[in-house]
Amino acid sequence: MNTYTRLTDQHLAAITQIVGVERFSTRSADLDLHARDQSFHEAHPPEAVVWPETTAEVSALLKLANAERIPVTAWGAGSSLEGNPIPVYGGLLVDFTRMNRIVNIRAEDFQADVQPGITRLELNKELSRYGLFYPPDPGANATIGGMVANNSSGIKTIKYGATKDNVMRLEVVKADGEAIIVGSRARKDSSGYDLLHLFVGSEGTLGLVTEVTLKLHPLPANFSAVLAAFNDIESVMQTVVDIVGAGLEPSALEFLDTETARILNQDKHLGLLETPHVLMEFNGASDDAGLNDALDICKANGATNIKTAAGQEERNKLWQARHHTYETILRIHPGKAQQIVDVCVPLSRFPDMVQFAGQALADNNLFGYKFGHAGDGNLHMNIIYDQSNAAELALVKRVNGVIVEHAIELEGTSTGEHGTGIGKRPYAVKQHGAAIEVMRQIKQLLDPNGILNPGKIFL
Ligand SMILES: Cc1cc2nc3c(=O)[nH]c(=O)nc-3n(C[C@H](O)[C@H](O)[C@H](O)COP(=O)(O)OP(=O)(O)OC[C@H]3O[C@@H](n4cnc5c(N)ncnc54)[C@H](O)[C@@H]3O)c2cc1C
Repeated sequence: MNTYTRLTDQHLAAITQIVGVERFSTRSADLDLHARDQSFHEAHPPEAVVWPETTAEVSALLKLANAERIPVTAWGAGSSLEGNPIPVYGGLLVDFTRMNRIVNIRAEDFQADVQPGITRLELNKELSRYGLFYPPDPGANATIGGMVANNSSGIKTIKYGATKDNVMRLEVVKADGEAIIVGSRARKDSSGYDLLHLFVGSEGTLGLVTEVTLKLHPLPANFSAVLAAFNDIESVMQTVVDIVGAGLEPSALEFLDTETARILNQDKHLGLLETPHVLMEFNGASDDAGLNDALDICKANGATNIKTAAGQEERNKLWQARHHTYETILRIHPGKAQQIVDVCVPLSRFPDMVQFAGQALADNNLFGYKFGHAGDGNLHMNIIYDQSNAAELALVKRVNGVIVEHAIELEGTSTGEHGTGIGKRPYAVKQHGAAIEVMRQIKQLLDPNGILNPGKIFL
């Protein structure tokens, strides 16, 4: 039950005392801008938006909100796909985009301390001057705070891991306003409970992140890429398993289905065979860095057409096929919306997952595109629907649910990388069983008044 306090004039006055009038707004344009993410979930505007610049300001805002039981939702770039930053109970929206400084780059330690509002592209531009980069790449130009909160990953996860593998230390402001440090700057750390990884992926429901220490990697000197066509998904997955099994360490290992190849041809004239494809990238110290072995594996698994690229420019051309899939789908279906399915299963179950998802669409006369991070067993499917048709949207949600439940039955997860947000809450008990109660207890301990991003993770 919603027992939260609506913002009063006294609250608004107290908030402007903390951040000043310039970094506070109740204008409808600002409220509407923060009412929804990139998903189909219903918009809910906050009652006020603030743009803090310091940890002390975030602490003061949370102290006030906690004492008055005002809901607080953090905001990065709003690029989530499961309703994660939607302020469903109104209240105060804390937009972190003004806390976007790089505090310190320690190149000799391969680390950087950053404020949460910096975007990954801004960060990587600066890091390139040091010959370094931060690899997690969710496609969208997300903020580091949003990526930490969602434990985002993306195409480079197979080599570099997800956000959780690349975060070393966080400064977090708890619901009561106290700032704590979790994790450390040591490359290994086995001291105490692993609170760092409790906050990573907690979607702003346990505390607000005000500083992040990231693990950095050397910028690769050489790139090569392969785009290989196969007759069926089984050959695609055998290729993926063989490449991983050969220890080749691709920096990306992606899958595209026949329908996706077809619209990429239509939109970008890529001349692809209209069959399933594997798209992979290798980066490293040597020119061929795995390329030749990968080609042999593709051929041994019956690849019917293979395109290769060496060097960054050539590689970028080949990668057009994957990077612009979302926009291509929108262009090919003007006026339509897409529901993005995100499930992840063990590699051996991936063909089953792809086949099941396709059949679920066909059985319900729906249409969609299947692609994803095959090297991680992470399937995405963009289901096309008409936003003005409530019955069709309900059907899409139902089919999405059937696919998610199947992923859990295959010993996978309801979400590989987009988080629980609003959309995946119904499946949390099926996936986690009694462990969901432990999660509730943790939430209760850290946020007893339930002010932090209410309406997420738990039903
Ligand atoms: C076209 C497209 C493709 C995408 N592809 C991928 C992909 O391949 N892989 C992937 O992982 N994701 C993908 N995403 C999803 C999305 O980009 C990520 O989830 C991203 O990390 C969200 O970051 P953000 O800055 O936009 O955060 P927001 O959406 O603003 O917020 C995300 C969550 O973080 C919380 N939050 C924000 N800042 C803080 C903070 N300082 N402290 C505590 N909590 C905070 C919010 O409350 C919310 O719960 C894609 C999105 C789009 C639109």
